Amino acid sequence: MVYEVKVNELAEEFGVHRNTIRNWINSGTLPAQKAPGRRYVIQQEDYLKLCERFGRKPKNDLPIRPIENEFKENAVKESTSPPIQLNLETADLVTAVDFASICTTCGSCASACPLSGVDGLDPRKIVRMAALGIGKELINIDWPWKCTLCGRCEESCPMNINIVKLMRTLRAHRQRNKVPHPLQKGVTTCLEKGNNLGIPKDDFIELLHDMGTELAETSCPGFATPIDIRGARLLVTVNSKEPFAQPDDMSWWWRIFYAANESWTISSENWEGVNWGFYTGDDNAMKTIVERIVDNMERLNCQALLLPECGHAYYATRYGLERWFPESLQKFKIYSVFDLLLEYITENKLTINQAVHTKLTTLHDSCNYGRKSLKTFGHGYFDEGRTILKTCCSNITELIPNKKDNYCCGAGGGAWATPYAAERTYFGREKARQIQQSEAEVVVVSCHSCKDQLEKTLAREFNLNIEVKYIWELVSQALVLPEKV
Ligand code: SF4
Ligand code: SF4
Repeated sequence: MVYEVKVNELAEEFGVHRNTIRNWINSGTLPAQKAPGRRYVIQQEDYLKLCERFGRKPKNDLPIRPIENEFKENAVKESTSPPIQLNLETADLVTAVDFASICTTCGSCASACPLSGVDGLDPRKIVRMAALGIGKELINIDWPWKCTLCGRCEESCPMNINIVKLMRTLRAHRQRNKVPHPLQKGVTTCLEKGNNLGIPKDDFIELLHDMGTELAETSCPGFATPIDIRGARLLVTVNSKEPFAQPDDMSWWWRIFYAANESWTISSENWEGVNWGFYTGDDNAMKTIVERIVDNMERLNCQALLLPECGHAYYATRYGLERWFPESLQKFKIYSVFDLLLEYITENKLTINQAVHTKLTTLHDSCNYGRKSLKTFGHGYFDEGRTILKTCCSNITELIPNKKDNYCCGAGGGAWATPYAAERTYFGREKARQIQQSEAEVVVVSCHSCKDQLEKTLAREFNLNIEVKYIWELVSQALVLPEKV
């Protein structure tokens, strides 16, 4: 619920000068949105916090702003496609508008965004439109879907405005049948069948067993794919794209687990690690997918979780665990790919032959593991990847800029699966330029979407003569495998 108030009325009610109220509003201490007639709109919870701070009984006759109710009614009407129900309490545009109201229109966000100017997209414009209450128009245009949710804009924002949250909130309010089809289909299929591509359980298990047998015959004697092993230390999720089209990619990790003598397992049910509810702004779907992982952890009594799919899978799952299942994080540990590889290396569980990798190699920082994890969880994975690279290769270079200032490859935020291929390619020009200038021959990534974009789009469109490898592929190729029976 939101209220319409005047500065002088609030000043009188709380016994402070009008300028004090204005200062609170300008600094964000009191989140408020400008409204016609020298009025402001404030949320009920912010008004109640103010009352509590001044020990005042809240008024019950403040005017309620009718447009907000109208907006919500329209949004509810637009989000009726079953079985997905958007949670308008947690995905509320008004929350984003409150942040937007402190925008100084400095333009730093627009300068930082590689997509500024494409089809009129400009993060500053989006923030201003949200602040001015032109949310409906924003919901119906494609800007929030062309944005990769990379966070480079908000990293440069002096007012710390949460632009990524605003973009995701706009996605959340889009009518479900107007969400880019591949993304919505992935979410719906995952909710109905347990994975984004609807792979049947029997086919999945058969493939995993066959691949395990092949690995045992070629390089890891005695290996058998561990499925539903109760009490295994580590639960590993799977990106449905791998069993569907790139099954060999799974075995990079399997070789590492074999070498490290890890106790690990894959669940036969709800094994999907990617979470496209994060992309579509559908918090209910996102929560369900995270909850399935929690259920698998409990059912199989595992102590640690690894999501090797993609940067967004780690970010979305960790965010979902912290938001909806914080008690589960007391029961088990969540590893990023960097944490686990580094743990194996520092505990001398792997023997690495650096001579395998001789080409000039560089690391592409993932937005989700890096900049966004830094902001959301207080730690960005920058140095860990570089330590792993140094362990495996002697010939290393850097992309400039890097770490939290790095450019997104252009495929984040679900962009790899949307129909906006031209925009995605244009977005990636900065990444292509960075790679060309570095003269790197191998680009190492930690995310499936980054790999696809670099290998299948940027290398072709910008004539990059590069190999693209996962960081676990780099480690796996340099392994000296133990001799087991
Ligand atoms: S960087 Fe922040 S304050 Fe500056 S225009 Fe963008 S959103 Fe507004
Ligand atoms: S693409 Fe990245 S920099 Fe541009 S608006 Fe989206 S999050 Fe911000």
